[in-house]
Amino acid sequence: MANLDGNIEKVLVTKEELEAINARLGAQITKDFEGKNLLVVGILKGSIYFLADLTRYIDLPLKLDFLAVSSYGGGTRSSGAVKIIKDIDIDLAGYDVLLVEDILDSGRTLEYVSKMLSARGANSISIVTLLDKPERRVVDIHPDYVGCDVPDEFVVGYGLDYDQEYRNIPYIGSLKREIYE
Ligand code: 5GP
Ligand code: MG
Ligand code: MG
Repeated sequence: MANLDGNIEKVLVTKEELEAINARLGAQITKDFEGKNLLVVGILKGSIYFLADLTRYIDLPLKLDFLAVSSYGGGTRSSGAVKIIKDIDIDLAGYDVLLVEDILDSGRTLEYVSKMLSARGANSISIVTLLDKPERRVVDIHPDYVGCDVPDEFVVGYGLDYDQEYRNIPYIGSLKREIYE
């Protein structure tokens, strides 16, 4: 895979570890959402691989919808401004929403999105994030489910991009600094 992962510094979460994370979170979510009216909302585009694999471990009826936001541009640090690029289609009234995010960094994106969705009459809003960088948090937001913590390095793969590339790497890796500095 020289072409695809030639710019990867280090593998942080292997394919096997991702599989184990999805099995663990899926089982927990299945327990917690039993008897509820589950709507899984993925935040495009970074969450798509995680959402696709995770939901196959959720043994419950559920619906899917997607939301696209922009907060980053082409760089590696959040600008702080969150903009809705594509909204969900489903009316949230009566649903227990599970927001699916690739990585929680400053927390600004999820704070904005969860406030926006809870103002629309959902029964409940929960958050699952594959990755978390807790030391980078600038707002008070607490995910209900976390795959694993990662160090404060720019990571790519399994949906996460740098300038729209690297999403299809099948594991999570850190990008060589010379690529983005
Ligand atoms: P926040 O609003 O929490 O600062 O940023 C969350 C978003 O920033 C994530 O959904 C992701 O799109 C992007 N992001 C934050 N850290 C990283 C990282 O290390 N790698 C990549 N590819 N995206 C990141
Ligand atoms: Mg994201
Ligand atoms: Mg991105």
